[in-house]
Amino acid sequence: MHVIFLGAPGSGKGTQAKRLVSKHGFVHISTGDLLREEVAKKSELGLRIDSIMQSGKLVDDATVFELLKKNCDLGKKQYIFDGFPRNFDQAQTLDLSLLKGSKYKVIYFELNTDILVSRLTLRRVCGSCGEIFNVKSAPPQVEGKCDKCSGALVHRKDDSEEVIRERMAVFAQTMNPVLDYYNKQKVLFRLDASLDAGDIFSKLEGLVCL
Ligand code: AMP
Repeated sequence: MHVIFLGAPGSGKGTQAKRLVSKHGFVHISTGDLLREEVAKKSELGLRIDSIMQSGKLVDDATVFELLKKNCDLGKKQYIFDGFPRNFDQAQTLDLSLLKGSKYKVIYFELNTDILVSRLTLRRVCGSCGEIFNVKSAPPQVEGKCDKCSGALVHRKDDSEEVIRERMAVFAQTMNPVLDYYNKQKVLFRLDASLDAGDIFSKLEGLVCL
């Protein structure tokens, strides 16, 4: 079974995905990560999307979908889609062109905006292995360094308050039709993302590892 994670930036999807990968062998695919890799490589695509991503707006559907198709092989493994779909068209395309009848569940991480803004402004991410820290609630042992691989921790450019608010607004505008779509298909499950990460993980395991 595949899993789709929905939730605003900062709702904890990435952290929970890492746990499902290490304990249950899922493959985690984040469209945000794939797009950031293109920006870092300064590929033609990366140069085109850099300013869009810095502003918090969405990259066009065709670009995102092409990148996604290139990077997953659904027949072989169980995937966690993180950050995709972001709008109704992406949800339909995912069903028709990629999942094509495969079994999946959709998990929606719910959290209020003030908590999200505070989490994201304090978030630091390892530039090498992607491990996620929070300078207040989950700080690294050595400031600015990843506990796992000693890589340098970075504050993502789009994790500034102004851009976060724009990302939240985009999320709110585009997500309701996606939630309706999955609700009608009875594959949508809501999780309270303000709970402790361990509690969320137990609930998640109950839903997707039966
Ligand atoms: P994320 O890491 O998921 O918060 O995504 C960071 C940024 O990447 C977003 O603000 C968008 O600019 C872009 N992005 C990520 N996933 C998608 C997607 N499925 N569709 C369009 N843009 C995306």
